[in-house]
Amino acid sequence: MELKLILTTENPFRSKVIFWYRYVDDIIIAFDGSREELLEMLNWINSLHNNIEFTFEVEEDKSLNFLDLTIHMTNQGLAFDIFRKLTQTDHTIDNLSCHQLGHKLSAFRAYINRMFKTPLDSDRISDEVAVLNHIAAQNGYEPDLIDKLITKHQNKMEIDQLHSSDNRSTTLDKKYISIPFYGNISHKIGNLFRQYSDFEISFRSTNTLGQLLSHNKDPVNSLNKSGVYRLKCGDCNTLYVGRSGRSINSRINEHLTSFRVDNNNKSAFGVHLRVQNHNFNKKEVVKLLHNCNYGKRLEVLEEMEIYKYLNIPNVETLNSTMVNSFQESFRLIDEVRTIDVLRTQ
Ligand SMILES: [Zn+2]
Repeated sequence: MELKLILTTENPFRSKVIFWYRYVDDIIIAFDGSREELLEMLNWINSLHNNIEFTFEVEEDKSLNFLDLTIHMTNQGLAFDIFRKLTQTDHTIDNLSCHQLGHKLSAFRAYINRMFKTPLDSDRISDEVAVLNHIAAQNGYEPDLIDKLITKHQNKMEIDQLHSSDNRSTTLDKKYISIPFYGNISHKIGNLFRQYSDFEISFRSTNTLGQLLSHNKDPVNSLNKSGVYRLKCGDCNTLYVGRSGRSINSRINEHLTSFRVDNNNKSAFGVHLRVQNHNFNKKEVVKLLHNCNYGKRLEVLEEMEIYKYLNIPNVETLNSTMVNSFQESFRLIDEVRTIDVLRTQ
């Protein structure tokens, strides 16, 4: 865009622009002219379109911040520094937080990667390492974390250089599944997937700020959406877990009307109430377990919930695991569980 509109002969200051680089919406330019001329050019650019307004920052003490860098002009040429805004809080994911290690370290890996990609001189590298050590300490990490990550990064760079051309396509062919991260159990499930399927596992955090802040949902309205629900008999410990790709409410109404109609076997829960002559209170009977759109995820959520209730003593469930599409997975989870029990004994 700038080539067509700004860096043209229409621009009265075109000849004064020595270079012009843009990254998304940040532009750095070298301008060979006075501050007044620069202002005039800015006004001219801002007159090109009603919705575009540029602001600008001029170098101070021969240095300028651009993106996450501070660029200094020296007698030997340009020198670079990592630029952190004054509002930077040094906060990353705390070491004690229930996130998988990879997520916790990713901020530090990114900082280290940037440190090596930026042409910093040795003094500035030491400064940056000191900043990273400080950030790591602030967030509860071991004192040698940064050193370890730097060594790993350097080793990886060496290996990457040796194999620069091959192996690239194989990673693109991998299929990924994301599962929520709940600590060690998630690692175990991930290992099962790696062992018994072609899928690679990535973990999804379950305690993001967004999730913490979005608990203002009205549960009554959620029953008008699709999802997984649980019904409980009013007179005994019988449960039924179900899913609905339509509104949960309308599916539940079907359960409850089938209760009244003889010979209607559409709902196992309805049959239970009728045959046992048990009652229910509609307000207490329904529990929303998950809101989820129609699809594979909905199916898995339902089966997970059924699986969960099958293992609770003194609870009768009307569901059968015989219809599970993921029986093998649950068998494997049981296997891991048994091994754990044996280990701790
Ligand atoms: Zn009952």
